[in-house]
Amino acid sequence: MTFNYQRQYRGPLKAILLDWAGTTMDYGCFAPAVVFVEVYKRKGVPITIEQARIPMGAHKRVHIQQIAQLEDVANRWKQVHGRAVSEQDIDDMFKEFIPLQLQCLADYADLIPGTLEAVAAFRKMGLKIGSTTGYTGDMMALLANEAKKRGYVPDSTVCATQVPAGRPEPWMCVQNAMNLKIFPMEALVKVGDTLPDIDEGLNCGMWTIGLAKTGNEMGLTLAQIEALEPDVRQRKLARAYTRMYQTGAHYVVDSIADCLPVLHDINNRLARGERP
Ligand SMILES: [Mg+2]
Repeated sequence: MTFNYQRQYRGPLKAILLDWAGTTMDYGCFAPAVVFVEVYKRKGVPITIEQARIPMGAHKRVHIQQIAQLEDVANRWKQVHGRAVSEQDIDDMFKEFIPLQLQCLADYADLIPGTLEAVAAFRKMGLKIGSTTGYTGDMMALLANEAKKRGYVPDSTVCATQVPAGRPEPWMCVQNAMNLKIFPMEALVKVGDTLPDIDEGLNCGMWTIGLAKTGNEMGLTLAQIEALEPDVRQRKLARAYTRMYQTGAHYVVDSIADCLPVLHDINNRLARGERP
């Protein structure tokens, strides 16, 4: 008989890579959404906040471009401007987006409940804390400062503007692994509130956890969620779980506060020789 022996990583997780808006701060992921709405309004092509949320997680310029490609937006753009949206239009809107986003970021910088406790527990497990974001370097510098005031300081932060491409490509995760000097990739887990967050982790060969309740998928503040009729809340939440699992998330939980048992489960699976 012929046997083939395969090398397996059986150690524990070594790092967790957290998204920012909708994961550790800005419950409901509002800061970018309201600015995308404003930028399109200024071009005479108003969009809904739901349309603004569809590409969430991407590099912000890519996000503006993807909104323009939505059928309804593309049609109305043609009606208003007499032509399709151009690269120049996207550049103009991104240029307008940057100062508007910088102006309001601090208003949405409060940490999501449970973040500090969760991060402390991750550290107690021996994990390094990395982070990735679709925000630009300037935006992230401002947000990192706000986070620090609130007691949250990750060991590594990588922005979409510091790598060849943002989500869904894996480069921000690769750069975090390098910054933290951690390998193999199956010793890292990615946590985020959008579908591109999950793609990013999967494309990097990492474990992935989707957060269904606190971010872009629900797109509501905690108070708004609590004000929903229970059956409406349940239906919205179930839809978020389904979308994230269909994208390939290994796990989906409500919020960062629910991740700790999942990390222990991943450690058990790694110890048995399982891979993401
Ligand atoms: Mg996010």
